[in-house]
Amino acid sequence: MKENTGIYIHIPFCVRKCNYCAFLSAPSDERTREEYVQSLINEIGMRSVTDVCDTVYFGGGTPSVLKPEQIERILDSVRTQFSISEDAEITIEANPGTLGDDNDSALSTLKSYRRMGINRLSMGVQSMDDDRLKYLGRIHDSESVKRDIALAREAGFDNINLDIIFSVPGETLEEAMEDIRQIAELEPEHISFYSLQLEEGTPLFEQWESGAIEEVSDDVDRETYHRGCSMLKALGYEQYEISNFARMAEHDGQHDGQHDGQCDDRRSRHNSKYWSMTPYVGIGLGASGFEHGTRYRNLTKLSDYEAAIRDGKLPVEEEHVNTAHDNISESVFLGLRRIEGVKFADVPLEEAGLTRDEKGFRQYYKEAMKDAHSFEETGHLIIDDEGIRLTETGIDISNSIMALFV
Ligand code: SF4
Repeated sequence: MKENTGIYIHIPFCVRKCNYCAFLSAPSDERTREEYVQSLINEIGMRSVTDVCDTVYFGGGTPSVLKPEQIERILDSVRTQFSISEDAEITIEANPGTLGDDNDSALSTLKSYRRMGINRLSMGVQSMDDDRLKYLGRIHDSESVKRDIALAREAGFDNINLDIIFSVPGETLEEAMEDIRQIAELEPEHISFYSLQLEEGTPLFEQWESGAIEEVSDDVDRETYHRGCSMLKALGYEQYEISNFARMAEHDGQHDGQHDGQCDDRRSRHNSKYWSMTPYVGIGLGASGFEHGTRYRNLTKLSDYEAAIRDGKLPVEEEHVNTAHDNISESVFLGLRRIEGVKFADVPLEEAGLTRDEKGFRQYYKEAMKDAHSFEETGHLIIDDEGIRLTETGIDISNSIMALFV
C-alpha cells in the first residue's frame, strides 16, 4: 500500500544552547526569527507534492520559541501548498519553560496550538532531576515540566511525547531508573529514551576531553538501556523502535493484543516514515528530505539559506539520487531499527531484478546472510520466513549487524 508523505519543518532557534547539543540550533533575536519565518513560508511556496500528506512535524531547535501566530502562518502556508489529510498527525516540539512566562500565557499558547490543528506535543524533558537538568544546561526544572504537562492536558492534548536522556556522566543506574519512573508517572502517551552522546564541539565533550568528566561505561549504558526498556514495558508502554515506546492500549492500560482500530496506537506516525522509506519533505535550515527516490539536505548556514530563498532558488545543499542498491540497503538497515524488524516483502528487491520475498533477499544478500546466520546462532538476530529482526542483545550491536546490509 502506498504510504502518505510527511512534512518536516526545522526551527533552528533555542533560548540557549544545552551543554551536550550538536543539533542545528542557536539563540536568536525577534527580527531573526521573523525573517526566518518569512523564508520558511517562501520555501514552502517553492515546494510541491502531489500526494496527500498525513504528518506535519515542527522540529528543532525549539519550535515553541516562535510566537503561536508565527507557527500558524507557517501551518497556513503548508495547508495552502500541500494537500494535508483531515486526520493528519501534526506535532510540535516544545521545551518546558518556553511556552509562556506564566500559567496563563503558557495555557494560551497551548490552546492556540490546538486551535490551529496541532494534535501532538513532543517535550524535551530529558530528566526530572533538577541537578542533572542544570548539568545538561537545560533551562527548565522538574516543576515546570509538571506544570506544562498539566496545562497541555487542560488545553486538550491527548497525545504527548516526553524525551528521556540516560547515561549522563555521573548518573547511577538507580538514578536513571528513578528518572524513568518519574517521567512515566506523568503518563505521556509516548516516550523516547536516548543515551547521551558526547558530541565533538559541545561543552560536555570538551570536559570529557580534558579529563574533567568520565563517560558512562558501555556496560552501564547497556544495562541502563535494558533495565529502562523493561521498566517502560512493565509500565504499559510497547517498544516499537530501538529508542521509542508508545501506549498501544485503551486508556485502561491493558493491551488487547490487536491493532484493529479499537487500539489506541500512539506510535509516532511521522518518525515511522523515516524507518520505512516513506517520502518526506524537509523544509527549513539544514532540513533533510526524501522525495522521488532522492535524498537531500538544505543549506546549514542561515545567511546562505535566506539568500537562496531571496534568489527564488530551492535552498538545497546536497542531493543524492538513490540507486537500486541504496533503496534496498536503506530499507533493511532502517527497518532493523523497528522492533518488528524487516519483512522481506517490504524490501524493493524488484529494483535489482529479483522477487520481493525470502528467495530474492537471500539471493541479493548471499554473502551477508552467512554472517547474519552467525549472529542468529549467537542469539542477536532472528531470521524466519517472513523477515529478520534484532533480539534484545542484538540491539546492543545493531551497528555491526546493520553494516552487513550496507
Ligand atoms: S533545547 Fe534541544 S536543540 Fe535546543 S540547545 Fe537544547 S538540546 Fe539543543
